[in-house]
Amino acid sequence: MNLDTVFGFVDHHFLRSTESRVKIARHLSRSTVEHLQRVKFRILVKHLARNSPFYKRKFRELGINPHKVRSHADLGDFFTTADDLRNNPIEDFLCGRPEFGFETTGTSMGVNKRVYFSYREMVEYGRDGAVGMWGLGMRPDDIVADGFDYSFWNAPFTAFYTIEAMKAFHVIGAFVEPREFYERIRTYKPTVIMGVPTHIVRVTEVAEQEGVWPVKFLLLGGENLSERTRRYVEGVWGAKVYLSYGQTEAFGANGIECPDKGGYHMSDLSLVNEIAGQDEEGYGELTYSTLNRQVMPLLRYRSADITRWATDGDCNCLLSVMPRIAKIVGRSDELINCSMGNISPYWFEEMLRDIPTITDDWQVIVRRGERDDRIEFHMELLPGATQAQVQEHLFRNIQERFPDCWRYYTKKFFDFDFRYHPPRTLSGGRKLRRLIDARAKAWGE
Ligand SMILES: [Zn+2]
Repeated sequence: MNLDTVFGFVDHHFLRSTESRVKIARHLSRSTVEHLQRVKFRILVKHLARNSPFYKRKFRELGINPHKVRSHADLGDFFTTADDLRNNPIEDFLCGRPEFGFETTGTSMGVNKRVYFSYREMVEYGRDGAVGMWGLGMRPDDIVADGFDYSFWNAPFTAFYTIEAMKAFHVIGAFVEPREFYERIRTYKPTVIMGVPTHIVRVTEVAEQEGVWPVKFLLLGGENLSERTRRYVEGVWGAKVYLSYGQTEAFGANGIECPDKGGYHMSDLSLVNEIAGQDEEGYGELTYSTLNRQVMPLLRYRSADITRWATDGDCNCLLSVMPRIAKIVGRSDELINCSMGNISPYWFEEMLRDIPTITDDWQVIVRRGERDDRIEFHMELLPGATQAQVQEHLFRNIQERFPDCWRYYTKKFFDFDFRYHPPRTLSGGRKLRRLIDARAKAWGE
């Protein structure tokens, strides 16, 4: 009997229900988690070396002996990248027969990445997800409504398998018009609501006018959420808003927000996590290997998300044995080098965070000026507000939060432009690309 079969046996006979998994989670020690991680990691590397043409080729090219690889450190400079997924035939990554395919939402390179799974893998992610939901307060007698968009995206299935493992009641509203979503889920009085921020904020605006019912918590994922918007949604529903963190490459199940403290607990029984290339503040790129996958496992995959380990002490939640990462501050492929500095959407989130006269929908475009770069802000002005008020508040925030940047501005290394739009016109209800580099195009013209 190999170890995989042992895990399967234990899982099948002792860990079938979410309740029994929660009991185990409460008593897991850090050393047990790390031991399981090491065992599973070695199984993963050997599985890839036997079955994946891509990894076979890479191991050969780089002189990596899969039997000697015990941790990420043993892989030297080898990483799997998003470009690897885009530029190689998907068959090169497959180690088993796929049963389900999803695509990643990022389309910056014009080619979507595809990630394949089996039903069994999705069921397993769902069981882990249910333990996370238990920690946030979900129970089998809850009624859950979700508003995730189906097209090519894993999120609705992550929700489906999680709620299925919890054995809670589930109604799927999907990505329908916010008023219709509100009116139809109202019939079910869901105690938990899931979805993407852009959509659930619009649903919340309807709820603010039409009324709410008792809700335990809302779980949002797939996009960033400003703290101001979180407070607004929490205020309307009288319930906590939690965030999940995940990439399609890990079935959207990398981590779940700690209810006690900031940051996301990482799923350390299904992933090996590493923060690669850390700077002096500990920020680097989150990189992970997937541990429970047979069909398309990934080894030391670069997430492109920049974060660091959370440093604000221990928590007392159900997942306290799993380490936490802090908020994602940007994506390595979104960093733009311009005369303002090495900027990411995070900079502008911080600059615009608490300006009460604009909405949370904004976009920044970097353009080539006559001599220097021009940073063009697109913002939605709320009724009764003036452009001068917004600009004054923004400049104050930059001076306080980005003093270096302000100094460069006063020395005219770059310039700002401001464009104002009516509320609810910038995004068109879809995910808004926060930061765009329009300079390359300008050069080509
Ligand atoms: Zn916690």
